[in-house]
Amino acid sequence: STMPPLLSAIANAGRRGVLAKSAVVMERLGQIDLVALDKTGTLTEGTPRVTDIRPLPGTGLDEDGLLTLAAAAEHPSEHPLARAVVDAARQRGLHLPEATDFSSTPGEGVTATVEGRTVQVGSPSRLLTTTSSHDKVVAELEDTGRTGVAILRDGAVVGVLGIADRLRPDAAATVAALTELTGRTPVLLTGDNERAALRLAAEVGITDVRAGLLPQDKVAAVKAWEAEGRRVLVVGDGVNDAPALAAAHSGIAMGKAGSDLALETADAVVVRDELATIPSIVQLSRTARRLVI
Ligand code: ADP
Ligand code: MG
Repeated sequence: STMPPLLSAIANAGRRGVLAKSAVVMERLGQIDLVALDKTGTLTEGTPRVTDIRPLPGTGLDEDGLLTLAAAAEHPSEHPLARAVVDAARQRGLHLPEATDFSSTPGEGVTATVEGRTVQVGSPSRLLTTTSSHDKVVAELEDTGRTGVAILRDGAVVGVLGIADRLRPDAAATVAALTELTGRTPVLLTGDNERAALRLAAEVGITDVRAGLLPQDKVAAVKAWEAEGRRVLVVGDGVNDAPALAAAHSGIAMGKAGSDLALETADAVVVRDELATIPSIVQLSRTARRLVI
């Protein structure tokens, strides 16, 4: 055809299930030499399920009571963990009281007023500063690769949820292909706890794991690599990934589980929900670049 190589690369990427927003995007993708992958929703399927419901003794809450509180507060959130909590409550047929004053903090969790009380749901390491009986429960959950979620009512912890997500079936093959393409094993950047992150990373062949990161920590990691002359590709799905997607040489968002902000910020979007399309379009971009130059 007479189409310029980078435009036909866009068309080609589209056929493979990746929407690139411009020809410049394709050109830059061909230059990357380090890949940073997000965990939840990127390496994993992004459809996590609640596996454990642990109300703390003395709170007056049973499993349904704890789940109702957590799901009411999470209802307005688009985070994959929030959807898991709300789905679990629906499956038990629980009635959810309305939440007001909702706010969310990327990489941490949510806060809302439920029946006149302040409810916080999120990362145990971020929300719980003092140690107590819930610590053992959280450690036990995280050692099995689960994400522990803490629930606080008026500032006091009332229970913990365990949430598990499956690795994408093509995660290990994608990591191997990206390693081959860039000469360096991808790095995992996650807001989740280190125990769960290390366990999951080991299953796909990743050893460099940066856990417990806030959105700005992901940006700092990317900027440090780029200051060393690396050209970084960030792959993510969440609101928490958007600043890193914007800061990186190239940013790709996972379309299906992806938040609106990540999709808007990224240079390209994986619309067919397959991680393995990423190495294939990096390869495509390299070939197109050679034809242009
Ligand atoms: P990742 O980087 O792995 O995609 P996030 O940065 O989105 O993870 O979230 C990091 C951590 O923050 C989660 O593991 C969880 O503990 C907590 N968190 C963030 N948002 C929520 C939420 N809506 N509900 C519960 N926990 C949350
Ligand atoms: Mg994510």
